[in-house]
Amino acid sequence: NAKQVHGCSYAYYRPGMEENADNRTELGADMTRALHLNQFELYYQPRIDLGSGEITGAEALIRWNHPVHGLVMPSDFIPLSERNGMIVSIGYWVLYQAGKHLKALREEGLSINRLGINLSFRQFKDDRLVETIKRIIKQEEIDTSVLEFELTESAIFSDEEHVRSCLTSLAEEGITFSLDDFGTGYSSFSLLHKLPISALKIDRSFVSQVNESSEAAEIVRSIISLTQNMSIKVIAEGVETRQQLEFLIKHDCDEIQGFFFSPPVPFADFKRMLSKPGKKASGE
Ligand code: C2E
Ligand code: MG
Ligand code: MG
Ligand code: MG
Repeated sequence: NAKQVHGCSYAYYRPGMEENADNRTELGADMTRALHLNQFELYYQPRIDLGSGEITGAEALIRWNHPVHGLVMPSDFIPLSERNGMIVSIGYWVLYQAGKHLKALREEGLSINRLGINLSFRQFKDDRLVETIKRIIKQEEIDTSVLEFELTESAIFSDEEHVRSCLTSLAEEGITFSLDDFGTGYSSFSLLHKLPISALKIDRSFVSQVNESSEAAEIVRSIISLTQNMSIKVIAEGVETRQQLEFLIKHDCDEIQGFFFSPPVPFADFKRMLSKPGKKASGE
């Protein structure tokens, strides 16, 4: 039917989508060329340790420098790449490029403890996921203890046994994992015992409401307190205000990430942030 011709299934159908269908078909065709034309770019958003106030890590976030549409955000092409399968190659490019950047940091005497890289459920459908990740790590001499793959709970539940066996093999290499957008999915704490998860990233939708909604505040507090006796870190995503930061400090959150400190920035800017002394979360 028409919608499948345009490359989107009913599951993604929203009223008004037809207007954009041509646009998306075109993006889909461009996407296959974008890798070869070197149009993707990794931005980095710093993660700040609330104990030391220092940048302790970052999350790598992909951007597409499109010749016509300008800077295209992941929400405009990652879902499409998951449907057409391109996310598999894009995902390998992300790891490869992050490896190059980590090497560049080392060469300048700069370092981070953790680099978050997003893994989509669709990437697990590639039989060669583990083997290819291992090969890129070896080839790019990536320090595996720095790598922290970010997964969503829905990705895990899409094929729990398979995902578990992939994570176990990768964990043997020293790689760590976090649960992304935590609180929005199944939020099953039993996952934390079954899988090698070492961090939870509390979803922005709760963090942004901590000072307005007692429910959001309670969710954030309980996520932090439930992990207190486990060796699992809690990172608050999408911290935008000083009041949110103060709430998180008061309730012993481990790390923050958000516009309050910095939006995702190009690698050159991130490098500059790392080389500046006094990169404090308090901003003064
Ligand atoms: P995510 O992994 O949950 O990434 C966090 C998103 O929140 C990023 O959006 C980031 O820019 C945004 N953000 C961070 N702090 C704030 C804040 O204070 N306020 C607001 N309003 N937003 C904030 P971005 O870069 O647009 O990425 C969106 C999503 O696209 C990501 O969500 C992730 O699911 C996906 N994505 C991005 N890069 C990759 C990638 O390399 N591979 C895969 N598979 N997915 C990716
Ligand atoms: Mg993420
Ligand atoms: Mg997230
Ligand atoms: Mg989120």
